[in-house]
Amino acid sequence: MFLATLGIKDWFIRYWLTKTDCAMPPDVSSSTSNRRNPEKIEDHKHVEKFLGDLPKMPSHYCRAKTSREYLEPIFSNMTQLYHAYKDNCELEGRECLGRKLFDKLFLKLNLSLFHPKKDQCDVCCSHKTGNITDEEYAQHVLKKDRARKEKDTDKGIAQSGACHVFTQDVESVKLAPYLQASAIYYKTKLCVHNFTLYNIATKEVMCYWFDESNSTLEASVFASCLVDHLEKVLSLKLLPVVLYSDGCCAQNRNVTLSNALLRLAIEKNIVITQKYLEKGHTHMECDSVHSAIECKLKGKEIYLPQQYMAISKTARSDPMPYQACYLDYTFFTDFSKELIYKSIRPGKKVGDPVVTDLRMLEYRPNGTIWYKVSFDDELHPLPHRPTAINSIKQINSLQKLYAARIPITKRKYQDLQDLKSVLPSSCHSFYDDLPHSNH
Ligand SMILES: [Zn+2]
Repeated sequence: MFLATLGIKDWFIRYWLTKTDCAMPPDVSSSTSNRRNPEKIEDHKHVEKFLGDLPKMPSHYCRAKTSREYLEPIFSNMTQLYHAYKDNCELEGRECLGRKLFDKLFLKLNLSLFHPKKDQCDVCCSHKTGNITDEEYAQHVLKKDRARKEKDTDKGIAQSGACHVFTQDVESVKLAPYLQASAIYYKTKLCVHNFTLYNIATKEVMCYWFDESNSTLEASVFASCLVDHLEKVLSLKLLPVVLYSDGCCAQNRNVTLSNALLRLAIEKNIVITQKYLEKGHTHMECDSVHSAIECKLKGKEIYLPQQYMAISKTARSDPMPYQACYLDYTFFTDFSKELIYKSIRPGKKVGDPVVTDLRMLEYRPNGTIWYKVSFDDELHPLPHRPTAINSIKQINSLQKLYAARIPITKRKYQDLQDLKSVLPSSCHSFYDDLPHSNH
């Protein structure tokens, strides 16, 4: 609840807490009288082992301040998971527990399913259940509508040819390999990501795919994709740029990205603007791209992560196919060093506006950043002294983000080795070559 105020909406996952998550995990041992029934205890232990053995997402994918663990996005609902459990019982020739008890044990273990849908709005939900006042709700609706109006206006300007407007987001995490075989349930897999940019006037789309052995999910990664795409677009048509996104701090609202965009504004001599949609109401054109890709992926077997890129190119034909590329570690620039602005905090004292209050950031060719905390405000300069414009380095002379590929864990490497048995032999070398640590 109220994650918006803390700015910890997690873009890199689309784990929506299932309804049952809101309830306290029931105390299974006391709600049943199985304490003295050794067979039942055995069955409980088996469920716990079954669930315990399923691969979980690494902790950096999970919501801040939660001890909950998320299963890899293999199961889309509890019924599917329960079927896998039943198959497992059959294989081991044991009785399986009922669905209700299975669900209870799942909750008791503090587990959650991955859910690729966009978050429902916390504020709208709270209003429905009477947990926030009509006044707070009215404020929220005003802000949401105001942000939409801003975007519609900008779309019109883009269609008239006066600027470029993009929406941007990361697709829910994909896994490689991904097969219709139960062998993959129990093995950790390689995480694959897609950062998407959608030009709302031309409907052109660019998908940047990369996997965890080539990149983490730090701010410089997304900044590198954005700068790469904007450089190409601006070399064809030099116009001001407006970027729409949700207000996720890790991805879209941070000092690293701001410095990258400011450098580009200076080098290209154009104004670049970032605008943020209201939390809970961030549906954008790039989400339709992700839906189309998900649709195309249905029933497909993925042996190698690059297949995701190939499939995304076929996910639309009208008005033109999506563009897509697969990145390796050499692509990324480190935008977090030699900062022009050390902070994008709009205030200085306690009680002043903070980063999560920002609605708009404007990067000017003269090397300054301006901001709004409400779309109807005047622009104000950020209250921090930037580096003098004549001592700012060019983007292409900044350091690369990675000197080598990124090692995966020993367990993941081993699991992927095991999965080779269900993959065509032509794909094995990719998994053999994955860098990995010794723990
Ligand atoms: Zn809402």
